[in-house]
Amino acid sequence: MKILKIDHLGIAVNSIDEGKNFWSEVLGLAFEGTETVAEQKVTTAFFPVGESEVELLESTAPDGPIAKYMEKKGAGIQHIAFRVADIEAALAELKEKGVRLIDEKPRMGAGGAKIAFLHPKATGGVLVELCER
Ligand code: ZN
Repeated sequence: MKILKIDHLGIAVNSIDEGKNFWSEVLGLAFEGTETVAEQKVTTAFFPVGESEVELLESTAPDGPIAKYMEKKGAGIQHIAFRVADIEAALAELKEKGVRLIDEKPRMGAGGAKIAFLHPKATGGVLVELCER
């Protein structure tokens, strides 16, 4: 598997409208608008930082994954995303190594990326996302 870089850090927020102020006004990162991924019940906002990005995640429904996460852990860093060259190959390799996956097949994420999550129980507690763009 070839990991190319840290693609983004996913940060759960109550409200992108409120949360974006720190990232854009205080840190001066470019706010490039929001995108809703209906399938994942989430609205996202990306802020480019050099070769990587910060992704803010706001739940659009009380039963969505971000809402559930926030119920347990509150706002904060929710996942780390690695960009891979070939997500299908990466998932096949991880499966062969016995790594527990949340997504056995990639699905569509924000920005048209193919994404898949590894189970935090397999990674020492970190929700890891693979993405291919
Ligand atoms: Zn992400």
